Amino acid sequence: MKVTEHIKNANGNTQFSFEILPPLKGQNIQSIFDNIDPLMEFNPPFIDVTYHREEYTFKDVGNGLLKKQVVKKRPGTVGICAAIQNKYGVDAIPHILCGGFTKEDTENFLIDLDFLGIDNVMALRGDAVKTETYFTPEKEGHSYASELVSQISELNNAIYLDEELKNTSPTNFCIGVSGYPEKHMEAPSLDSDIHFLKKKIKNGAEYIVTQMFFDNKKYFEFVDKCRKAGIEVPIIPGLKPIATKKQLNLIPHRFYVDLPEELVIEIVKCKDNEQVREVGIEWCIAQSKELQEAGIPVLHYYSMGRSSNIKKVASAIF
Ligand code: FAD
Repeated sequence: MKVTEHIKNANGNTQFSFEILPPLKGQNIQSIFDNIDPLMEFNPPFIDVTYHREEYTFKDVGNGLLKKQVVKKRPGTVGICAAIQNKYGVDAIPHILCGGFTKEDTENFLIDLDFLGIDNVMALRGDAVKTETYFTPEKEGHSYASELVSQISELNNAIYLDEELKNTSPTNFCIGVSGYPEKHMEAPSLDSDIHFLKKKIKNGAEYIVTQMFFDNKKYFEFVDKCRKAGIEVPIIPGLKPIATKKQLNLIPHRFYVDLPEELVIEIVKCKDNEQVREVGIEWCIAQSKELQEAGIPVLHYYSMGRSSNIKKVASAIF
């Protein structure tokens, strides 16, 4: 079922959903199930599975020479989605990127998803490859998520890349896209970012999931600005309980989001990460309660491979 249908069928009740990462190459699917199992009691209508593009590594081959290797450390997005739908009967949402994909790769990826009975996709540009500063699209690929959204919408209208194909079948994907309450790191301003977010909606996206934020005020202001800009689709907040002291630096550095002073002070006072976890869970519960009271249709949690703290938050809310 489509995300938009799940929201409609919930009749105004706030639903619980979460995002998981494929395991590192070499691990098995059980590690994914071990993460999902404890969260199933909260009846998630859908589970997102992230996509991780290739990375370049350089291997020393002697004589001062380095050999460039292309590796994918977390493959398996599509397989995990199929396994989730098969095992739990819950909609799985694969993330799909512009980065590393030609338009032909994208089309074939979408055909696989369609054949597997997957009804939703989260369309993203992706970041630059780790060893590069700027995002570079594939030669025959997309530069922005809005272009990827257009290609998916075309396929939903049975328009394939090869115009000579006859009697083509349409796909029927519900398309989600990302939004940034504290603006995307490359955007010159929040208004500019919202301008391009609107383009993703115009091209066919039906809902937005936000980057994590730790101050609800930023989310509410963002939603307000989006509505004023004419964006009417659901804007699902992304939430994450902080779990370690290291994340105080890592989260602003990696995701370009601010941590409220009050939260920082509480975490700095903690003696160990066990205490940090408790502070992070309490903070996330308070955020979740306020969002639930505001009638937000879905609260989406970033599990990042750890479900125990998400379970504690969900137990207090759902
Ligand atoms: P876009 O919407 O394409 O925007 C990128 C930047 O370009 C923005 O600054 C925007 O303002 C600007 N822009 C857009 N269109 C134009 C235009 N036409 N001209 C000029 N500027 C323009 N990454 C992964 O690798 N895998 C994942 O699974 C993944 N999941 C994510 C899930 C969520 C909910 C979020 C919020 C992010 C996720 N990311 C993921 C990270 C994401 O790929 C990065 O943040 C990436 O840098 C931007 O992707 P985007 O789809 O938001 O890009």
